Amino acid sequence: MSHDYDGIVLGTGHNALVLQAYLCRSGLRVLSLDQAAVPGGGLATIENPRHPGFLHNTHSFFHRAVTAMPWYRDLELQRHGARYVEPELNVALILPDGRALEWWTDLERTAVSFAEFSSTDAETLRRWVDEFRPIVERILIPEVQSPPLTPEKRRAKLERSPEGRRLLEVQALSPLEFVEREFENDVIRAGLLFFNGLREVDLRLRGFGHSIPALLASPHKAQMCLGGSARLAEALIADIRQQGGEVRIGVRLRAILVRAGRACGVELEDGERVEARGFVASGLNPQQTFLELMDAQAVPSSLRERAGAFRYNLLAPLFALNLALHQRPRYKAAEKRPELDRAFMVILGLERLDQFHEIVGAHEEGRVPPTVMWGACPTLFDPSQAPPGKHTAFTWEKLPYALNGDPASWDAAKEEHGRAMLELWARFAPNLADGTVLDSFARSPLDTERTLPNMRRGDLLVGSFDHDQVGYNRPFEGAGQYRTPIAALYLCGGSTHPGGNITGLCGYNAARVIAADLGAKVWWNPPEFGAA
Ligand SMILES: Cc1cc2nc3c(=O)[nH]c(=O)nc-3n(C[C@H](O)[C@H](O)[C@H](O)COP(=O)(O)OP(=O)(O)OC[C@H]3O[C@@H](n4cnc5c(N)ncnc54)[C@H](O)[C@@H]3O)c2cc1C
Repeated sequence: MSHDYDGIVLGTGHNALVLQAYLCRSGLRVLSLDQAAVPGGGLATIENPRHPGFLHNTHSFFHRAVTAMPWYRDLELQRHGARYVEPELNVALILPDGRALEWWTDLERTAVSFAEFSSTDAETLRRWVDEFRPIVERILIPEVQSPPLTPEKRRAKLERSPEGRRLLEVQALSPLEFVEREFENDVIRAGLLFFNGLREVDLRLRGFGHSIPALLASPHKAQMCLGGSARLAEALIADIRQQGGEVRIGVRLRAILVRAGRACGVELEDGERVEARGFVASGLNPQQTFLELMDAQAVPSSLRERAGAFRYNLLAPLFALNLALHQRPRYKAAEKRPELDRAFMVILGLERLDQFHEIVGAHEEGRVPPTVMWGACPTLFDPSQAPPGKHTAFTWEKLPYALNGDPASWDAAKEEHGRAMLELWARFAPNLADGTVLDSFARSPLDTERTLPNMRRGDLLVGSFDHDQVGYNRPFEGAGQYRTPIAALYLCGGSTHPGGNITGLCGYNAARVIAADLGAKVWWNPPEFGAA
């Protein structure tokens, strides 16, 4: 038995790696363990096995504001080789008639595009961005970069400032109510909701009305990692190794060990036991952590119940079609709007607000809705992701996990659905029907769960954002703030505050809590919004 480690982290998703890197820099000896053959979880880039040199980002690709994250700076990830670009025409919603709604990194250019649809909406956009910029900078950014406050303390804190009171007022709406109340044009409404839906908040839920103005006012937009998303994981691992940390992959976990009520290590499937003096932090979901990996005797029944009841997003699962191409997609609409040749995220099939209701209804019934899809051609901005002169592209669609009531239906249905998506894509970019496609492969929501079992039911956000699963109560009351009712056992993955996506903030905040509990050095400078 080894007693060499101060801490063990379960999983090597980016949150786990961020946590590990901070604590290694605090002087702790930390090991991370993952069952996958490659570390990084949702930071995955694979080389096409049939066509060497074509790289595909099979999980995350659009990394919002990563270069502005405190951990990106603190861990010197640029020095470790991470490089990002934030394309100027960040999002384009292309309509069948050739018009396009465009979101630029420059607000004025976005407002000009909005004005083509409605000058009133363009003014409304400017007004909300002006009003919400200080709210984003002074409240929302520090809030997600801190362990969450109790709902009561949060409200009391917000009520003390005019910006806080305004945030509470707007937050009380649902995103749907916000958009219907503030914007008049149907394309703009649909675009804003879709843009927001990418973050997977249930658009009908009150309490999230601020999410759209917050997104619009955010100083950074979607970015991409040069060389592929996996380069970010490699940079994190480089920092960890430089500080003496260890990353072990291809290991199967059997159990989290608990002695005298305290987490003290893990047992692997092959019987090996690895112990840690200080902590075990799980980057996995609550069911895996408390039910699958822990002896029922070691977990109070109330905790087992709450872990079992943790819920997943209905609308989060993605279906992906990945292409290796001789040429980039050439959009018909670019003949009149040449800027579309440099559009980063391209949304197709979306024209009106009502489509949301159709998509939600189809998810509830396990049906495929009329396609709305979005994607990118990474090689437009990073030629290194394909052989010289060639391209890669992908498009995603939100589709139900349990297709026709059974997730296994995806294995028979996915090729055909991939073809249908390509047909729709080719209606907008006709060269995709002309021998441009060298290779394609589809991945279903079931494939997501198979690769990353923490994304239960294909939920790439690792848990829904209902009121009892956000902030202080994420994943559930009693296990918020990254501590769990089991001594020395912590959570650090997307099922904790502030939730899934590539933000690294679950791991960043968990590092602060664990360092404080262990009396380890907090060498960085975390913001003051919350209390550890
Ligand atoms: C198709 C797809 C597209 C996405 N696109 C985007 C995007 O564009 N932008 C964005 O911000 N986010 C995107 N996401 C979401 C993002 O990838 C996740 O929210 C994020 O990766 C969650 O990070 P995490 O740190 O919680 O862990 P994860 O990245 O989920 O990693 C968890 C790790 O735990 C390991 N693991 C799981 N179970 C076990 C076990 N039992 N034993 C040992 N190890 C285990 C896994 O192998 C994995 O390495 C996408 C996800 C998918 C699937």
